[in-house]
Amino acid sequence: MSADLHQLGVAALGRALRERRVSSVEATTHLLARLAAHDRLGVALAVDPEHALAQARAADDRLAGGGAGPLVGVPIAHKDIFVTRDLATTAGSRMLAGYRSPFDATVVARLGEAGTVTLGKLNCDEFAMGSSNENSAWKVVKNPWDESRVPGGSSGGSAAAVAARLLPAATGTDTGGSIRQPASFCGITGIKPTYGVCSRYGMIAFASSLDQAGPLARSAEDCALLLAAMSGFDARDATSAERPPQDYPAALARAREGATAARPLQGLRIGLPKEFFPAGLAADVEAALRAALAELERLGATLVDVSLPRTELAIPVYYLIAPAEASSNLSRFDGVRYGHRAEHYEDLQGMYKASRSEGFGPEVKRRIMIGTYVLSHGYYDAYYLQAQKLRRMIADDFQACFRQCDLIAGPVAPTVAWKLGDKSDDPVANYLADIFTLPASLAGLPGMSVPAGFGAGGMPVGLQLIGNYFDEGTLLHAAHAFQQATDWHARAPSPQPSPASGRGSQDSSLAPAGGEGRGEGAA
Ligand code: GLN
Repeated sequence: MSADLHQLGVAALGRALRERRVSSVEATTHLLARLAAHDRLGVALAVDPEHALAQARAADDRLAGGGAGPLVGVPIAHKDIFVTRDLATTAGSRMLAGYRSPFDATVVARLGEAGTVTLGKLNCDEFAMGSSNENSAWKVVKNPWDESRVPGGSSGGSAAAVAARLLPAATGTDTGGSIRQPASFCGITGIKPTYGVCSRYGMIAFASSLDQAGPLARSAEDCALLLAAMSGFDARDATSAERPPQDYPAALARAREGATAARPLQGLRIGLPKEFFPAGLAADVEAALRAALAELERLGATLVDVSLPRTELAIPVYYLIAPAEASSNLSRFDGVRYGHRAEHYEDLQGMYKASRSEGFGPEVKRRIMIGTYVLSHGYYDAYYLQAQKLRRMIADDFQACFRQCDLIAGPVAPTVAWKLGDKSDDPVANYLADIFTLPASLAGLPGMSVPAGFGAGGMPVGLQLIGNYFDEGTLLHAAHAFQQATDWHARAPSPQPSPASGRGSQDSSLAPAGGEGRGEGAA
C-alpha cells in the first residue's frame, strides 16, 4: 500500500490509518519524500521532517488507543500566512524572513488538536496579494498540470501540492479568491466559508474585513472533514461568528425532500447570474461549465436566471478596500515591532524607509501606496467611502438573488491558468481576472471551487458555487452530489518531464488515480 499512499485523500487515508492498514509514520515518511522529490514545483517553504515524524508518532499512539477521529495521523501543510510556533512563517515576504511566531494560529492549533500532522509551510503570494503566486519573494510555484503555467494565487503552493498528490489537503486563505481560484487552476476542490466561520487569529492580516481561511483538498467530502476541525468560535478574533459547532460531514449525506438516489439535488434551485456568463468568458471555460450545469440538472437541480448587476464594479471596489486595509495592517512591519530592519540608515525615518523598501516586494508597495492614498484626507470620501457604499449594494444584490435560488453558480475565473510571466508585468490584467471571485468576498458569502472539466491545453476548469451566509452545508452537499456523479475531481496530472529526473523516473508514482491520463475523456 505504501507506494500508493499519496493517491489517498483525507477521508480514505484517515480510514486506512484507523484500520491500522498504514501508520501515520509511514504516511508522513512517504509524503515527505514526495515533497522533496517534487521540489521543482516550488510549493514548500519550511519543512521540518523530524518535527513532522514526532507528530506522526504521537498520532500513531492515539490511533492505537482506538476511537480516533477522522483526521488523526493525516499529514497536511499550511499556507505560509498562518503563524506557526515550530516552523518559520514568512507570508511569502522578505520582510518576515526567518520569523518565528510565539504561538500557533487558531486554525493550525485546531487542526493539530484534531490529530493532523504538519509537514510544513506552503508558498504563497507575498502577504496573500496576487492571483498567480508570482508575487512570492521566494520562488515560483508551477502548475503540476503544465509546469509552464501559473498555479493561481495567492494559495498557489497549497493548490499545486494537493493537485500533484504531494499532500491530501492543505490550508489556504481567501481575501478575494485565493482559495477558489488556485483550486480551479489546479483541478482540486476548495471552500472559502462565510466570513467569521474560521478564526483569523494568527492569520497574517492582508484585508481584515475580507480575509477568511479554508481548506483545499481533492473532494467536497475531504473539505467537509477539514472545515469541521478548522472552524468555530474563537474569542481571540473579534469578528469570529458565535455559533454552535457545525457537522459539515453530515451535510454531505443530507436527504432533500423528494430526492432519490438518482436525483439527490431534487428541488435545489441554482441561480445563474447573467453577468457571470459574459461575452468575454473563454469558450473552453464556458463549455465545461455548461456541461457541469447540465449534470447538476440531471441530478435534480433547477437552473434559474438571476442577475448580479454590479459584478464589474466588484473589481474597483475590492481594489480600493483591500489596499486600504492592507496599508493599515502592514504598517506594523516597520523594522521595530515586526520585520526586516535595514543595516544602513541615518535616522529613525531613514530606518523605516530603508527597512520597508528592502522588505516589501513591488505588488505590496503598490497596494500600500494605493491604500494610503484612498484613505487620505480629501480622497477618503471620494474613493474609500464610495467603495464601502457599493460594497453594501453588492451584498444586497446577492440577497435579492437568494430570494430566487439556493445556490449561485458560475465560473471561478474567466480563463484557465495562464502561462508564467504572461501577466506578471501587468497588475491590472491580474486584477481583472478576479472578477468572478470578488463579489462573494465583498459580500462575505461562502464560495467553493469544484473541478468541472478541462479546457485549453488540457488545463482544469473549476465551477464556482456560492451559498448564502452560513450555508456551507448546502454548498458541500451539492458539490458532493456532483462528485459522486463525475470524476473530474479524481483526475490527477500525469508525470511531466523534468530536467533533473527525466520523464517518469522519480515521478512515475504521479500516475493519475483510476489510470486516467490528463485530458483523456476531457471536455
Ligand atoms: N487576487 C486577489 C488579490 O490579489 C485575491 C487575493 C486573496 O484572496 N488573498 O488581492
